[in-house]
Amino acid sequence: MTAEAAGSLTLDRAVDWLTRFAARIHADREYLTGLDAAIGDGDHGINMDHGFQAVQQKIAGTLAPDLGALFKTVGGTLVSTVGGASGPIFGTAFLRLGASLVGKASATPAELGAALQEAYEGMAARGKSGRGEKTVLDAFGPALDAFQAAAAAGRALPEATAAAATAAAEGMERTIPLRATKGRASFLGDNSIGHQDPGATSVAALFRTLDDSVRS
Ligand code: ADP
Ligand code: MG
Repeated sequence: MTAEAAGSLTLDRAVDWLTRFAARIHADREYLTGLDAAIGDGDHGINMDHGFQAVQQKIAGTLAPDLGALFKTVGGTLVSTVGGASGPIFGTAFLRLGASLVGKASATPAELGAALQEAYEGMAARGKSGRGEKTVLDAFGPALDAFQAAAAAGRALPEATAAAATAAAEGMERTIPLRATKGRASFLGDNSIGHQDPGATSVAALFRTLDDSVRS
């Protein structure tokens, strides 16, 4: 299958993805904040909504020249506007996506897979964390694996994004029985068990909206 036949993430679709994700976070703001109230300080929905409303304002009206520039703007905006752990962590993910896709008007599944790998590694480095610690990585990691497997098998982009969205949602649900060992939730020790991680919930929405944009 050629890269073209496999489909690619275009600049328009990437902007659509960010718009859908911002709307989804805005709609889920109270839900995400409620999840964080159970094991953190109850601000995750507020933080994410604040950051992605700022992103929307920043990218509205001006079309970035390429995916790299677009995602770098997103990352920089998140780092500078969002307090809390999620700002630097999601910000780093988008900065890494941007660095990986510099100068590209669109990304093939293989290129997007490589960029998502960079984003994952950036989040892990920024949070000094790994999988199984009840964080964003427990949704992002499985999504990355599923995306990479589909891309390596030559699947079209919507198949890769669908697999990633499903894996992210499953990873999010699997955070419930985990004991948090990073971030504010780790202060609760065993009492963090039995609650879904808010950051992983946002990551599941990130991959769900990517898939929605790719198949729209
Ligand atoms: P804060 O914890 O500073 O209040 P948020 O509530 O916005 O920030 O975000 C909390 C989420 O951030 C958690 O649910 C978790 O997924 C993620 N997180 C926190 N610390 C880390 C870390 N060290 N590594 C990866 N993710 C983390
Ligand atoms: Mg919080």
